[in-house]
Amino acid sequence: MARQLLADPETPQKIMEGRDADIVHCLRCFTCMAERAATATRRCTVNPLIGRELDGTEIKPAPVKKKVLVVGDAAKVSTITNAVYWGYWAALDI
Ligand code: SF4
Repeated sequence: MARQLLADPETPQKIMEGRDADIVHCLRCFTCMAERAATATRRCTVNPLIGRELDGTEIKPAPVKKKVLVVGDAAKVSTITNAVYWGYWAALDI
């Protein structure tokens, strides 16, 4: 459950509200554990805000729009969502 809270800190609230489809699931990729040793902070594959709390939680649009191709598996949808939110053109490799 601890890693799930890194992936989506709002998980308990979403469960209480019956919003299961909105939950961003932990991939069990252990990137957070590897980053801890390397950078003394947390990073999460599906939650770009973890480890950047002191920078603020506001996600600012990219100053220059770039094209991004996302190649991968389970994290693709989250990455695409974040890229589009930040103002990038994003393409999904299926
Ligand atoms: S980095 Fe991976 S294992 Fe760690 S919380 Fe995020 S999705 Fe889960």
